[in-house]
Amino acid sequence: MRQVYLDYSATTPVKKEVLEEMLPYFSEKFGNPSSLYGIGLNAKSDLNQARAKVAKLIGAEEREIYFTSCGTEADNWAIIGTARAKKAKGNHIITSKIEHHALLHSCEFLEKEGFEVTYLDVDSKGLISLADLEHAITDKTILISIMFANNEIGTIQPIKEIGEIAKKHGIWFHTDAVQALYNVPIHVTELGIDMMSMSAHKIYGPKGIGALYIKKGVVISSFMNGGAQENKRRAGTENMPGIIGLGKAAELAEANMEEHIRHISELRDYFADQILSKISEVEINGSMEHRLPGNINFIFNYIEGESLLLLMDAKGISASTGSACSSASLAPSHVLKALQLPYEKIHSSIRFTIGDDTTKEDIDYAVEEIVKIVEKLRAISPIYKQSTKG
Ligand code: PLP
Repeated sequence: MRQVYLDYSATTPVKKEVLEEMLPYFSEKFGNPSSLYGIGLNAKSDLNQARAKVAKLIGAEEREIYFTSCGTEADNWAIIGTARAKKAKGNHIITSKIEHHALLHSCEFLEKEGFEVTYLDVDSKGLISLADLEHAITDKTILISIMFANNEIGTIQPIKEIGEIAKKHGIWFHTDAVQALYNVPIHVTELGIDMMSMSAHKIYGPKGIGALYIKKGVVISSFMNGGAQENKRRAGTENMPGIIGLGKAAELAEANMEEHIRHISELRDYFADQILSKISEVEINGSMEHRLPGNINFIFNYIEGESLLLLMDAKGISASTGSACSSASLAPSHVLKALQLPYEKIHSSIRFTIGDDTTKEDIDYAVEEIVKIVEKLRAISPIYKQSTKG
């Protein structure tokens, strides 16, 4: 049976070139970068080359990149590290209601320690209001953390404008760019970003490795205690194969970004046109104008998303009802809830994300099968029958 993977926001396959570059670091190039002899020194030099590649992709300096174990750790570190470092100045953080749980749960953790958090609303398209942001700032605000692009509905926030507001008020600005990296050109200094989270497995690198960009001059507390790795800011022997993989994925991302964005946006638009023209009562969640190029999130009215997902899986098509991290739970997505969608529409929503390996044939196959499945499910849906009776 044909397999059509349409869940590239959950994770991406490791590119062949990335894997090839990683493999020697499991065996012959096994040195510890902290060792002061040949293979250790070579490892240190390779480590810093990977760091330089990540820095180049986002317009940063090599010393501003700190490797972490994943995007989640980068988010935790930015939020909790800032809170601890800036406690004397204030205890207020501003974020949004549609952040990833890595961010939201870090904020909830800090609330229990006495910090105050403002969770900004988003409009029906999934965008924050800059006026609301500015209005929320107090003299106790120490951090603004707004995600670059959302993992479920793909909306891209006005990052440059947020950076300007943060700068005007002398507040640090962190953004979670786990989904945006490789899908949107990013230049951290032009965008006024002070800290930015990244993850390798969303850009065709390995799982279990991420990075936090920390602008020079921004000093946050560390929470991994131990050795002097990562310029004494993030202890722990470096995950060399992972770091080399992230570096290679970043290098390829930089070289291929234009073609990648063109390819996935063309297929996404084709997919959306096909679904909207062949199936009635379908809506799109989130802004089409400010959106990740490979993301589309449909509401298939009168259908239970989980049923659609299972029947698609039986035809070899993979997609997702929520973000990868929360799809194991049936709790309604906090992102779709923030759009003020009624419960039924939340449960009829499915996210599809297109990637480098997706072809037009994949999309044609997926459309053909989805049309049949939707017809079948609506034929047994009492609410659909009721609605068509008017
Ligand atoms: N932030 C966003 C927006 C994500 O989509 C994800 C993963 O889905 C993460 C953070 C967490 O990254 P990681 O899986 O590397 O921990």
